[in-house]
Amino acid sequence: MNGRVERLRAEMERLEVASFLVSNPVNVRYLTGFESSNAFVLVKHKNVVLMIDGRYAEAARTVEGVEAQIVERDFLPGVAAHLGRLAEGPVGFESDHVTVARHADLLSTGLELEPVAALPMTLRAVKEPAELDAIRRAAQVVDAVLARLAEESVVGKTEADVAWWIMRAIHEEGADDVSFEPIVGSGPNAALPHHHPGDRRLGAGETVVVDLGAKVDGYCSDCTRTFATGELPEALREAYSVCARAQEAALAEVHAGADSRGLDSIARREIEAAGHEVLHGLGHGVGLEVHELPVLRQTAAGPLAAGNVVTIEPGVYLSGRGGVRIEDLVVVAEGGAEVLSEFTKELVTLN
Ligand code: ZN
Ligand code: ZN
Repeated sequence: MNGRVERLRAEMERLEVASFLVSNPVNVRYLTGFESSNAFVLVKHKNVVLMIDGRYAEAARTVEGVEAQIVERDFLPGVAAHLGRLAEGPVGFESDHVTVARHADLLSTGLELEPVAALPMTLRAVKEPAELDAIRRAAQVVDAVLARLAEESVVGKTEADVAWWIMRAIHEEGADDVSFEPIVGSGPNAALPHHHPGDRRLGAGETVVVDLGAKVDGYCSDCTRTFATGELPEALREAYSVCARAQEAALAEVHAGADSRGLDSIARREIEAAGHEVLHGLGHGVGLEVHELPVLRQTAAGPLAAGNVVTIEPGVYLSGRGGVRIEDLVVVAEGGAEVLSEFTKELVTLN
C-alpha cells in the first residue's frame, strides 16, 4: 500500500481507531488517486475499501491497492448501511467534513464513532517530490501570465475584463484550470483583500492588486502582485515599500522549524510600525486545494516542516484609497525557503 495510507494508519494507531472513514473527495483523491464527487474510503489496518456508486464502478476497478465496493448512491442506505459489515469500531471520521445529517446516519449504524479533526489534511501538508513538481509547474504558469499582463494595455478596461483575460491566459499557458477566480482590485477596490472583480475601469495613478493561481495535475499555485497605473500618490508608494519590506522580512525567516505565528508577527510588526492595520494573516498552505494546512496567522502556533508549501502574503490597505499585497508561493526547506514565484516584486507600471 502507498505511503500516504501508511501515514494515516500511524495516526489511527495513535488515536486508537480501528477504521477511518474518509469522506472529503479531495482526501479520497489524495489517498487513492481516485477522483469522484461521490466516493468514500474506509481505511482499516489490513485493507482499504473504496466505496462508490454504480456510475464509478468501472473507473474504480483501475485503482490499485483497494477493494472496490459498490453501494447505493445516497449516503444512507449507501455507505452508512455497509459500515456495520465493513468497519471495525471505533470508527474515526472527518469531523470537519461530515454533515450533521450524515453524522445521524452514522450513529444509526450503532458503531462506536470517533470524531477526528484535520485528518488526513495534516498528512497533505508535507508534500512529496512529485507533488512539489506539479506545484512548481503551476507557479510557472502564473509567472508567465504575469509577464504577459505587464505587456498588455489594461488602463480603461474593467476589472472583470482583466480577470477574464487572466483566466484565458492561464489556460493558454498550459494549466488544467484556475485554482480560484482571479482577484483584480483597482483603486479603492485594491483596499479590499477579497474583492470580486467588477465593472470598475482601471484608472491612472492607482494600484491594482492581481491575485491569481493555476492548477496543474490537480495541484494549485497562488501568487499576488500589485501593479501601478502611472505615477502613484505618496501614500500608496509608501504602502508599497512597507508591504515589500514586511514580505521580505517574513520570507527571510521561513525554514523548517520556524513558528507559524512568529512569521506572522514579523510581517505584522513591520506593517503596524508604519501605522497601518493588519487585515489578514500572513499566509496558508497550498496543494490539492488553494487553502490548506499549515496556516500562518496569530491563532496558529506550531513549527513549519520541510516540504510544506505556503504563501507569504502580507497586505497594506488604505481604506477608500488603494492597497498593496505581495504574495509569494514557497517550499519550506531545512535551511530556508525555495521561492516558486519568480515574477519581479519591483513595482511594475501597467499601461
Ligand atoms: Zn493569492
Ligand atoms: Zn493566498
